[in-house]
Amino acid sequence: MTRPARITVDVDALRHNHRVLRRLHGGRLLAVLKANAYGHGAVACARALAEADGFAVAFGGEATALRAAGVRAPVLVLEGVFSVAELHTALLESWWIVVHHEEQLAMIESSSLPLGSLHVWLKLDSGMHRCGFAPNAFRAAHARLMATGKLSSITLMSHFARADECDSAFTAEQISRFDSAVAGLPGPYSLANSAGVLSWPAARRDWARCGIALYGAGAGPQTGLRPVMRVSSEIVAMREIAAGEPVGYGGRFVATRPTRVGLVAFGYADGYPRSTPDGTPLAVDGHRVPLVGRVSMDMLTVDLTELPSARVGSEVELWGRDVSVDDVAQRAGTIAYELLCNAKRAPKRYVGL
Ligand SMILES: *Cc1c(COP(=O)(O)O)cnc(C)c1O
Repeated sequence: MTRPARITVDVDALRHNHRVLRRLHGGRLLAVLKANAYGHGAVACARALAEADGFAVAFGGEATALRAAGVRAPVLVLEGVFSVAELHTALLESWWIVVHHEEQLAMIESSSLPLGSLHVWLKLDSGMHRCGFAPNAFRAAHARLMATGKLSSITLMSHFARADECDSAFTAEQISRFDSAVAGLPGPYSLANSAGVLSWPAARRDWARCGIALYGAGAGPQTGLRPVMRVSSEIVAMREIAAGEPVGYGGRFVATRPTRVGLVAFGYADGYPRSTPDGTPLAVDGHRVPLVGRVSMDMLTVDLTELPSARVGSEVELWGRDVSVDDVAQRAGTIAYELLCNAKRAPKRYVGL
């Protein structure tokens, strides 16, 4: 038998989430496929979303991989280009590119790109202060881009820092700064990431850019979104330990009663965070049991004392249907994005493709 660790990607759920988000947003939607589609497989997800208006990736190499796989839809490169040479690749492979800082603007000006050739998304820093042109520099950047004559179209965009905090005034402030900065400049406009689409109707514009919600995470249960990734393995061994005996590295967990410990073939090298505390649920044959002991590189341990039916070969869900990736992430002190991206080692299987 081969090692039972698996990543199952439910493509029907992905399509369902895409439809839900697109309907909610109203306008067009870029499906964000950066970081190998948040660990789900960028090419497979692009193929599954054949009806999408377009895709977004972080950098050019990810766009090239989609083109090489035959993906024809628009692909926006969110970090933009790093060199003039890459601008020419952008043209050759018809990427749309974000321009978010002075050097990228200067590259376009100094390049020998043909007139009317480049699709640009010009980014405003509306308050996140990570990237984008400051409000007082935005119009000048826009004017310089137009003056090159090299653009075929321009979309105006910004990105939210706190859209997942439904009661934060900061998103409203970012929206209002965007509206002031673009006043009088023709669209299309793009503001909303997943949380923007779900929680901030005023952020819905011509284009949404959705990642995490597309994968059915990060959004809470009321949205009707379905988890796309299910990460599973099996109980590969069991042992009984006496009260007072420790389990695993550092003896973090110490049994307070006679305890049946199940060994699961999945560890932090498979993407289950090492920082996950004792008590975090895993589902064994559909029943939630607690993690006990520190997560190892290739293995982890669960307390099966309350689940006498469990045996070697019992299925273990690390996250997916019965255990939400958001719950595991929160207990581990991180966010679902990081868990999904890091699920890399176990073989992937697609259902519904
Ligand atoms: C990653 C990213 C998104 C998608 O964000 P989600 O929260 O996953 O929906 C949207 N816009 C930009 C600029 C991004 O970098």
